[in-house]
Amino acid sequence: MANGCRRKPDRLSNRNDLVGLFPASDQGDVDTAVAAAKKAFASWRLVPAPKRGELLYRVGELLKAHKEEIARIMTREMGKVLKETRGDVQEGIDTAFYVAGEGRRLFGETTPSELPDKFAMSVRAPVGVCALITPWNFPMAIPTWKMFPALICGNTVVLKPAEDTPYTAVKLFEILQRAGVPPGVVNLVLVQGRGEEVGAALVRHPDVQLVSFTGSAAVGREVAAVCGQSLKRVSLELGGKNAQIVMEDADLGLAVEGALWGAFGTTGQRCTATSRLILHHDIKTKFIDRLVARIEKIKIGDGLDESVEIGPLINRAARDKVQSYMEIGRQEGARVLIGGSAYDIGACANGFFFQPTILDRVTPNMRVAQEEIFGPVLSVIEVPDFDAAIAVLNGTRYGLSSSIYTADVNRAFRAMRDIEAGITYINGPTIGAEVHLPFGGVKDTGNGHREAGTTVYDIFSEWKSIYVDYSGRLQKAQIDNVE
Ligand code: NAD
Repeated sequence: MANGCRRKPDRLSNRNDLVGLFPASDQGDVDTAVAAAKKAFASWRLVPAPKRGELLYRVGELLKAHKEEIARIMTREMGKVLKETRGDVQEGIDTAFYVAGEGRRLFGETTPSELPDKFAMSVRAPVGVCALITPWNFPMAIPTWKMFPALICGNTVVLKPAEDTPYTAVKLFEILQRAGVPPGVVNLVLVQGRGEEVGAALVRHPDVQLVSFTGSAAVGREVAAVCGQSLKRVSLELGGKNAQIVMEDADLGLAVEGALWGAFGTTGQRCTATSRLILHHDIKTKFIDRLVARIEKIKIGDGLDESVEIGPLINRAARDKVQSYMEIGRQEGARVLIGGSAYDIGACANGFFFQPTILDRVTPNMRVAQEEIFGPVLSVIEVPDFDAAIAVLNGTRYGLSSSIYTADVNRAFRAMRDIEAGITYINGPTIGAEVHLPFGGVKDTGNGHREAGTTVYDIFSEWKSIYVDYSGRLQKAQIDNVE
């Protein structure tokens, strides 16, 4: 159905490694996919939810069986190191099993009616055709986070994965087919063209009832505006400018390891990545010395090499963007302590690598402390006390993840209360969400929804209230039962 083929553009650790050829879909393909989803909805919504759950159990088993194969594909496709791409597939497996069980729950409520001989309850109903639009940084976890809850609720879906990661999405689609998903319930392959074209066409499509979008705040705003005009339900998971606070009483060794993992895991390309490090004045110098010593030992390279800790950035534009922030930071008065430029030693010349970087002397309002850089760059901000640390952490337009390292239980509880973020870690890095807890953020990170956990079902289902009057007469609420 694709109107043409294109070679994946140059990217990653080895630009000579062609991972595949993928269709570039257009508006006609979107129409075909949505029509298939609409047709399939008529029967899929009537399949008992426990049966839909059984299908997801099979999907989970197949993902387990193919975990290594998919992880290797993902590393070749988008560059994350193998241990992380295995984790990405594992998140899909965890979601499959977690959501499959929901097929025997999907609880509503029963409650007494105010009138005699009348029964009252609320149930979850499917929404219809859901458009799932996803980024490239978690090519398995994010599509499955959206798709499996959508399916268990009885919806059908059209997935538009990011342009940079079609292969992983194709593997997921193959697994769904092997598990026995009926035709039209999940539509993917036809709709993997460019965001501005097929993504926008999907969002506008009149037969799409719900848009679940994860990506940048800029595109999220556009998507929300279109959905606002058509009164379409839309859930947005957008960017972050996450911070780790280290207080003077913290276990510094633990906090250094947390900062390394939070800032440089996935080459800093996580929505929850630590991009600001807020250090108490008393420990700043010592902490930075230890951090720099560790960074000097980090191995950068091809993610297929098990000993490599940091892979490349996703593409040339991403590396150019990260590089541009070095100059922006310098002009504002920040100082590059380590890193600061592309890494093109040996085989890394074939990819878009960037050195793990620390920017020192950053102040809270600098652009490098406010804007999402989405690369291996950590901006260090010094603070005199706890209150200042919390104020700096809260001082951005985003509010996704956050972290504080402290040995003081009172401070830990104040931080849990006062930090403005959807996720707070105490003595852990800003990354590491688990699939059975709500995931999302406040302020410009989203529009109030939470994926994962039990909260995701509020995105993918409609509440329906049902009253059954078995009195045999007309009873008027708020009227007949009032003296
Ligand atoms: P992006 O916004 O450029 O693209 C996301 C998706 O939207 C892609 O599939 C893209 O093709 C599509 N798209 C682009 N233009 C579109 C349009 N006009 N209409 C509809 N769809 C369109 O983001 P990205 O670069 O792929 O991902 C990085 C961003 O995602 C970062 O900002 C990161 O913080 C964010 N992110 C957020 C979360 C979260 O859960 N909060 C998780 C991962 C990534």
